[in-house]
Amino acid sequence: MPVRNEAGQIVKWFGTCTDIEEQKRTEQALRQSQERIRALIDSNIIGITSNEGDEEVLVDANDAFLHMTGYTREDLNNRTLNRMRITPPEHAPLFQRVLQEVATHGQHTPIEAELVCKDGSRLPVLAGAVTFQDHPRQMIGFVLDNSARKELEQRKDDFISMASHELRNPLTALKMQTSLLRRQLAKQGLQASAPALSSMETQINKVTRLVEELLDVSKIQAGRLEYRQETVDLDALLRETIDTMQQTHPSHRILVRGVVQASLMADRDRLGQVFTNLISNAIKYSPGAETVEIDLEASLETVTIRVHDHGLGIPREQRDKIFERFYRATGPKQKAIPGLGMGLYIVAEIVKRHGGTITVESAVGKGSIFTVTLPKKRDILD
Ligand code: ADP
Repeated sequence: MPVRNEAGQIVKWFGTCTDIEEQKRTEQALRQSQERIRALIDSNIIGITSNEGDEEVLVDANDAFLHMTGYTREDLNNRTLNRMRITPPEHAPLFQRVLQEVATHGQHTPIEAELVCKDGSRLPVLAGAVTFQDHPRQMIGFVLDNSARKELEQRKDDFISMASHELRNPLTALKMQTSLLRRQLAKQGLQASAPALSSMETQINKVTRLVEELLDVSKIQAGRLEYRQETVDLDALLRETIDTMQQTHPSHRILVRGVVQASLMADRDRLGQVFTNLISNAIKYSPGAETVEIDLEASLETVTIRVHDHGLGIPREQRDKIFERFYRATGPKQKAIPGLGMGLYIVAEIVKRHGGTITVESAVGKGSIFTVTLPKKRDILD
């Protein structure tokens, strides 16, 4: 700035100098970080979407998303794409949960879902989204093509289904042959081979049970597990199951307290499978214990069966997972006990289909209580 005298001549200059290196660096860093994010958005490996409002209208998306789904920029500009249109109707409950999570946490854990593409086909995707504090009605999301993984999963499921079918036939033949052999040997008075034959039969029965469980798992996956509807005297079924278990597992005393005094409309064999599995787990996972207790209780509307063991227990963070397919608890003591992680998955499915619930309480090193509650009057759900 010039300083002038009365005649208007410049006699001095004032000047200032500000160090803006920091500012420049920040600007450059911001630009760089924007460019980096841009590189991801412009790549063709991840779909990015932006949607707004209650109907979640898609207002913007990158080329990768459009490429995946077949929609065009024009579709976006016309504001014709909303969540209803690009996701299948059966996903509604899933998105309800997602929206709730977004509302409370500002983001949701990635979900596996399907997108309805422009040509009507469905694309399996992994998707997640965040919202902004100052714009809670706006969401930015990512979408990853999940079809390769889904296809692999399907192939594994098909394999399990085929393998269990393929294994069943030779097992049935083996079973028939051993019982034929048993009869022939008995006829000829050759009793010396009887113990070996018995042990063969025990092993065959073990493998048969595993194969049956594998078949059940794949039927559940495909939604093809069938249920009969019949009147089931629950006390009689429990008595029968417990007697059989007691005979085959003399290591533990199975104590029963109470009665349910109820008949249910249910599938007898499937319910028997539930109790057999829970009791067998209670025994299996309490190697040092002497007893397993079963408490029975009935109210006006429900019956409750509690299977209580004094065994290894289950860590809190694994308690929900044990009902998932093929999940096994990870502790070294648990892992040392053989199993394939199918039993509780099947149990939970059967209980659910009977309109009931199953829960677990547990204390590590002390034991677990599995509680099954079944409604007295209810048809098996389709
Ligand atoms: P499996 O026993 O064949 O592994 P399940 O589906 O029956 O399969 O059980 C899943 C997992 O849950 C088991 O691997 C075990 O770790 C845990 N679990 C089930 N029942 C009990 C129990 N009564 N006590 C402790 N852990 C249990």
